[in-house]
Amino acid sequence: MEKDFKQDLKIRYYRLWIFSIVLMCTVALIPLIIISYFNYYQYEDAYNTEVTYQVSRRISYTKHTLETFIGDRLATLNLLISEEPYAELSDSKQCTKLLSNLKKSFDGFIDIGLIDSDGNHRSYTGPYDLAGKNYKDQHWFHEVNLRGVYVSDVFMGFRKFPHFVIAIKHELPNGDFYILRSTLSTTVLDDQIHSLEIRPKSDAFLINNEGVLQTPSKFYGQILEKYPIDVPPYAKNAVVKQEDDSNGDKNIFGYAYIENSPFILILSKRSEDFMGNLQKAKTKLNWLLVISIILIVSIVLWSTAFVVKRVSKSDIKQAKILHDMEYTSKMASLGRLAAGVAHEINNPLAIINEKAGLLKDFATLKPDFAYKEKILQGVESILKSVDRCSVITHRLLSFAKRMDVNSEVIDLELLLKEVMGFLEREATYRGIEINYHVAPDLPPIESDRGQLQQVFLNIITNAFYAVQDKGAIEIYASRKDNQHVKVTVADNGVGISKEDLKHIFEPFFTTKGKYGTGLGLSITYGIVEKLGGEITVDSTLGRGTSFTVTLPMKSNIS
Ligand code: ADP
Ligand code: MG
Repeated sequence: MEKDFKQDLKIRYYRLWIFSIVLMCTVALIPLIIISYFNYYQYEDAYNTEVTYQVSRRISYTKHTLETFIGDRLATLNLLISEEPYAELSDSKQCTKLLSNLKKSFDGFIDIGLIDSDGNHRSYTGPYDLAGKNYKDQHWFHEVNLRGVYVSDVFMGFRKFPHFVIAIKHELPNGDFYILRSTLSTTVLDDQIHSLEIRPKSDAFLINNEGVLQTPSKFYGQILEKYPIDVPPYAKNAVVKQEDDSNGDKNIFGYAYIENSPFILILSKRSEDFMGNLQKAKTKLNWLLVISIILIVSIVLWSTAFVVKRVSKSDIKQAKILHDMEYTSKMASLGRLAAGVAHEINNPLAIINEKAGLLKDFATLKPDFAYKEKILQGVESILKSVDRCSVITHRLLSFAKRMDVNSEVIDLELLLKEVMGFLEREATYRGIEINYHVAPDLPPIESDRGQLQQVFLNIITNAFYAVQDKGAIEIYASRKDNQHVKVTVADNGVGISKEDLKHIFEPFFTTKGKYGTGLGLSITYGIVEKLGGEITVDSTLGRGTSFTVTLPMKSNIS
């Protein structure tokens, strides 16, 4: 029963503990996780915006550089064609001089030539053999005639070297016109573009309006090959987009139209190239979260265990107080009952005693009374029984009165020997050996003599009952600490089973059948508590039992 109860309690506190853990973890962890989650995504957002912004700035910058490159060269041609007279420009020697001057100030110029309104190459200086060629039917010739300026797509020349052409038209007052045309190398464009794609998974290149690669691409092919993706729609400024690819990675795609040219600058960055820092930051955040969770959980575990332990302790204390109160009131009513019974029996006993005495007197008065001997014998046995009855009723009365205690100075050794005095005859008769082991420094104590006598009488009587004839009882008395003494009564008797050990202090628990009352130890327990002491028992079945009573040197008896 008790075991089940304890198990129940254990389960109850365990549940309370689990409940507290779950509750506190929920309260502490959910906000933490929500905040971390938001932080995480806010950070990712901010990071992506920053990356997009940086890419957009770099594209804009490169777009500007390329536009300036082409613009500067067009402006130079424009300056030449408006400032130099036609005669100078159409003279090939002069042209050679011009080209070498141009090359000194601007890189990229490869050749220069003048073309008249009929499409004939008037003069040419450069590495190709173009002098005398006619362009009248060529697309670019019409273009420059129409718009005044022309920038060609990139193409491979005879030397398998990529270049493009720029041309400027100059109109004369008489309606006639001529065109200054120059070939430029694309190396300068390449250099600019390569500075954009330093990362291994990034790609930057130029395409033209028809989607033909104008510079080589890392992933989409060689120069003049077809760009496999649709040409992005025209926009005045740089456009940058983040796109999820089929793997769910966020890649960046940006482009810019280069004004006054057929070129479109394209930049694509794979997420691996710019997500590294974000990944690092995310890992840090994750670690922070994990460490916080571990910390919170361990604090919760520790604090809830602490609180539950406290609660269980105070519960147990309360239960014990309740139990003690119950016990005290039980003992009190038992005492009243015993006193009542004893009192009621004392009166008829007194009458029996008196009448028996009278009978005895009558019998002795008459010397020749026939049944004198028989009657005297009977009366004697009545008186003996009455005596025995009054011993019992006195015991009951003293049990009822055990709540009243008086304090006096007591020599424990003396008291123990006094108690043993009651049992001396039995000890001698049964050959039981009694040994005293009293420490020389055993101090006298202040306590109630009568109550203490009862305590040791009960314990020693039990020991007598437990041992066989020629058994042994050891009595130890010594100082325990500065405020307590202890007395141990050890026998080598039958011992007490584990199961019985739990009950021996309960009133009416006995293993002696009709020979026992089961009151001895419960009374003893009550007295020892009352005197401010403590009683413990240690027993091995078949080996023996020892009871130890600890008593304060000065009992606080109120
Ligand atoms: P009673 O002696 O009337 O049985 P007690 O309260 O004095 O009642 O003792 C209760 C029970 O405790 C006894 O019945 C016995 O089983 C056990 N007991 C007490 N003291 C001893 C002992 N020294 N050795 C063995 N059993 C003991
Ligand atoms: Mg007893």
